[in-house]
Amino acid sequence: MNKFEPTILAFCCNYCAYAAADIAGVSRMQYPTNVRIVRLPCSGKVDITYILRGFESGADGVIVCACLKGGCHFVEGNLFAENRIKLTKDILEAIGIGGERLDMYFISSAMAPKFVEVVKEVTEKLRKLGPALPKKIQLTKQDPEANKRTFLYNMIKNLALRRPENVITVPEGLEEFGKIEFNPSKCIGCKKCEEICPEKAIDSIRELDLSTILKTSMDQTDGRSTKRQRLYETLTKIARKSPSKPISIPEGFEGFYKMQYDPKKCVFCEKCRDVCLEKTINSVKELDLYAITA
Ligand code: SF4
Ligand code: SF4
Repeated sequence: MNKFEPTILAFCCNYCAYAAADIAGVSRMQYPTNVRIVRLPCSGKVDITYILRGFESGADGVIVCACLKGGCHFVEGNLFAENRIKLTKDILEAIGIGGERLDMYFISSAMAPKFVEVVKEVTEKLRKLGPALPKKIQLTKQDPEANKRTFLYNMIKNLALRRPENVITVPEGLEEFGKIEFNPSKCIGCKKCEEICPEKAIDSIRELDLSTILKTSMDQTDGRSTKRQRLYETLTKIARKSPSKPISIPEGFEGFYKMQYDPKKCVFCEKCRDVCLEKTINSVKELDLYAITA
């Protein structure tokens, strides 16, 4: 029986690990030929889509090799990369590929033996784990009309071996990911959030989600007594049954909307939260992969 030989994709920073790999090569240090090296100007350039593209293209494991902490040519590029790697490991785990197939190493240009040791170790680990995917898959196409975030989520969906069950906590320091939560019992339907959203991730629907509003309005007081809050509180008190479906708002009647949020389009700029005078919008450092892969 043929022994499985994994393919490893190594993103190496030009200023450290790439130089270390180069020195290992010219010094004729022996290491497995399983590794394919991609040179980056800084490890901070590594994007989650690069890593996932590697898996789509047949890599069984990916490593990111960065400068030693405190030694990054661009000061903090390796630290940004570290946060992105943490999130990507969690994504890989959630979709069934396995977080252990991605790792990050901090290697200076003078550490050629360390680079060799890492490649040997990772090759051995992946030989035991076997192929990342059970069969070859098509590469996710990038729609020129869609934003980069949509491309990333389509890629996650394409690679998923199982539907993620839980939300993922976004590591501290990683600003570009999170999710937005709306509190419908505070919303006055001003639509400012919809207008300011650069990604068209918010839509106003002519509906009143009375069921959610009545369930939450009494818990959501923030010390203020607005007309809207008083209306919902009164409705909660007099309700003789729980509303079973949303109420359609007649055309021409403004002020009551349901704000519908699409997490697949959101780039977490938080502009909607900042513009909402009613403090209806919260930003949460979580990634709802279940909704994203729906
Ligand atoms: S800005 Fe706030 S109050 Fe206005 S529609 Fe959006 S969520 Fe509702
Ligand atoms: S965080 Fe930014 S992209 Fe996301 S819904 Fe709000 S305004 Fe739109």
